[in-house]
Amino acid sequence: MENATPMLRQYLDIKKSHPDALLFFRLGDFYELFDEDAIIGSRELGITLTARQKDSARPIPMCGVPYHSASGYIAKLVKRGYRVAICEQAEPAGKSTKLVRREVVRVITPGTAVDSQLIADREACILAAIFRERECFGLAFLDVSTGDFFATEIAAADGKRTVREIVDNFSPRELLFSSHLDAFIAETFQVSLPDGLFSGSTSGSPNSALSPAFTRVESTYFEFGAGLRLLTEHFGTSSLAGFGLDGRRAATAASAACLRYARETQKSAADHISSIRYLDLADQMVLDGLTLRNLDIFPERGDSPRRCLLDVLDETITAMGARLLRAWISRPLVKVDEIDTRLSAVEALGDSILRSAVRSELKEMSDLERLAGRLNLGSASPRDLVALSRSLAVIPRLCKRLSEIESELIRLVAQALADLPDLRQLISDSIADDPPNSANESGVIRDGFNSDLDQLRLLAREGKQAIAAIEEKERRQTGINSLKVRYNNVFGYCIEVPRTQLSKVPENYERKQTLANAERYTTRELKELEQRVTGAEESALRLEAELFAGIVETARRATPQIQNTAKAIATLDVLANFADVAARRRYVRPKIHDGDELNIRGGRHPIVEAFTQERFVPNGTFLNNTSDRLLIITGANMGGKSTLLRQVALIQILGQAGCFVPAESAVLPIVDRIWTRVGASDDLASGRSTFMVEMTETATILHNATDRSLVILDEIGRGTSTFDGLSIAWAVAEYLHESSRHRAKTLFATHYHELTELAEHLEGARNYQMAASENEGQVVFLHKMVEGKASKSYGIAVARLAGLPADVIARAEDVLQRLEKYELAVFSENARNAFSAAAGRNAAIQFSLFEATNRSAVEELLKYDPESLTDAECRELLTRVRKRLI
Ligand code: ADP
Repeated sequence: MENATPMLRQYLDIKKSHPDALLFFRLGDFYELFDEDAIIGSRELGITLTARQKDSARPIPMCGVPYHSASGYIAKLVKRGYRVAICEQAEPAGKSTKLVRREVVRVITPGTAVDSQLIADREACILAAIFRERECFGLAFLDVSTGDFFATEIAAADGKRTVREIVDNFSPRELLFSSHLDAFIAETFQVSLPDGLFSGSTSGSPNSALSPAFTRVESTYFEFGAGLRLLTEHFGTSSLAGFGLDGRRAATAASAACLRYARETQKSAADHISSIRYLDLADQMVLDGLTLRNLDIFPERGDSPRRCLLDVLDETITAMGARLLRAWISRPLVKVDEIDTRLSAVEALGDSILRSAVRSELKEMSDLERLAGRLNLGSASPRDLVALSRSLAVIPRLCKRLSEIESELIRLVAQALADLPDLRQLISDSIADDPPNSANESGVIRDGFNSDLDQLRLLAREGKQAIAAIEEKERRQTGINSLKVRYNNVFGYCIEVPRTQLSKVPENYERKQTLANAERYTTRELKELEQRVTGAEESALRLEAELFAGIVETARRATPQIQNTAKAIATLDVLANFADVAARRRYVRPKIHDGDELNIRGGRHPIVEAFTQERFVPNGTFLNNTSDRLLIITGANMGGKSTLLRQVALIQILGQAGCFVPAESAVLPIVDRIWTRVGASDDLASGRSTFMVEMTETATILHNATDRSLVILDEIGRGTSTFDGLSIAWAVAEYLHESSRHRAKTLFATHYHELTELAEHLEGARNYQMAASENEGQVVFLHKMVEGKASKSYGIAVARLAGLPADVIARAEDVLQRLEKYELAVFSENARNAFSAAAGRNAAIQFSLFEATNRSAVEELLKYDPESLTDAECRELLTRVRKRLI
């Protein structure tokens, strides 16, 4: 672009400081992209690629999107991991040919997108940062749209797993790191990282729905000294002690990186980020990504048809409530009194009339949290202010309702609500009832609020009336009855005369524009009036924008009160939602205690119960840390084992989140973690087989479960040969039961019958089975868990139910009989010896069922010397051995 026009030179200048982003360059009513950006843009957005300076030797690729529909396009790019820099005209385009000043007003990245069109209302949009300093990882999580800000630290020894868990738990859209963590990030998140800074465009791992975009930033973002200064200056404090961050260097560095990145991309002070909280991981039950998925707690990103807990649980009215509900479920509490405080509030909201009165007030509430964000990020619209005022107006009525409710938490909620009458008054005095969405349009400010504005509007109105009067006057004077005064955006006012009447046009008309059937003129009078009108209108628009900015500033100063109110409303919404779900779905208040006993009577699986066509069969579960710490659950496939396991885990999570639970009654201990190993999850991308994944997950559980953990094992050892799998399952169960460090409460569902023998050897193990009955070869599932071991495995009956051909079923029964009769007796004896050995040494056993059959045939053959046998004996031996093998 050596011969670039001044405009293109301006473009290149700006692009130079944003090499990593797609630059949306505002030209009139369009955002244009040039060069490489245009090629990427046209490919990703499916829009036509054209060229500027087409006729020159080096045409410049170019494409564009209309500015009023740009957010859809931006959203698409950001979702794919690109960064988009928005470059606006920084002054109104004048009539002169002088180049308009332009500047980048915002850079939009996956983790810093705040526009409502770009992010889901009911989900947090989180930017994360990670830093390592010696033996410690620091992590920070910031929701730029609301100002929610958390930090934590993790010992480097647990680094890989724990970092992954906490990151999955917060599910950020973007993760900042600097190159010193390249290898760690690549390994922990199984991604290949591109070169260079701001690696946004190629970031992310396509195979993991939970995976954030990975953005490498300069290491200066993580400098401790500068970071500490940035944070203390931003929060206006002398240290970070009040936030629990004192002495936490790694967490401080990560937090500073988040804040700096947010301020730089937003080009704003972001004052709504007004505090940060140190998150002690021991103070919550952090549900890792695997558990969240195994228990179907949240919808999968994308269009998964699977039902999830949130489908059952989320009837929150406000988006703030929906987001808080997600946070409460992702990180349940671990302190009895905190949980009880929530449960008591839910109980206090049990009165359905009172509750629905409260909930209907919440319907009037806008998303105050994000509104407070927009006030501080310079993107609040006139409609936001009206919404703010309407929301605040609900509060006096709401407080009155809340005063009737006896609950400590509800009292705190009521105390935090501020209705800000002065601000409301200002907004209703100043902003029109139904204002335009943009502060740059006219009609934002109400008549009567500002006398200068009223004066300008009067001038413009009178001018327009005078212009309208011209039409009548000119018709009379010229005798052209079809003469019209018209207005258009580009040419302004004109007098239009049809072609047929041109002969009557007087001398003083100046031609302005020629159309097919008419000519357009202006007159000196019209020009003068027009200038007066446009002058008045432009001044009015400028004045409106100034007045609006002043009102926004007044509202902005109330950010802390608005944020407290928002948090209180969100809390109230979730509590009332819990109460509503409890009433509608017959949930009960669990008794949470510090002991070890878990006793659920008539428990139900919240998701299966809500969506199954059949009647749900409730089941009890009893666990403790002594006599009933390992439940081995057998029973037919499809019998309901997995459902029961997940049901216990979900009830425990709901209870600790402060929600009532689907049961007749429930006594629940505090659980530090729920560990799940469920089903087959092939991790093809990382090249690990199902079995490898299964074993890795099992290893994590065995290393980390404590006597306060709840372990859910749904089939272990399925992905390998029968005896291999059985031995591993046996040893795992024994270890969880025996190891003094762990002794976790364990629910172990298995199709290996042999495991039921464990209960005979281990004091804390018990056998349960999912009852089924068989009627003329047809199995009927009762879905009822009873004590004892399943008498048989019903596999063939289930196969018949599934419609396997009759011949196959008959043959399977035949083979089964043979196996049971000839071989298993011998080899299960061998196997059992081997199990005990394996349990001690953790060694795998090297034979399988069919190898065993073969080996017995070989052994039989080896017993005889062919020389010493007659022909008939040979034939008889061969027949016998052959039979055994078929
Ligand atoms: P398993 O793990 O033993 O193979 P599942 O737990 O997957 O069995 O249950 C199979 C199906 O049976 C589930 O999809 C569910 O629809 C139904 N089911 C399970 N438990 C119950 C129950 N307690 N009441 C009613 N239906 C149930």
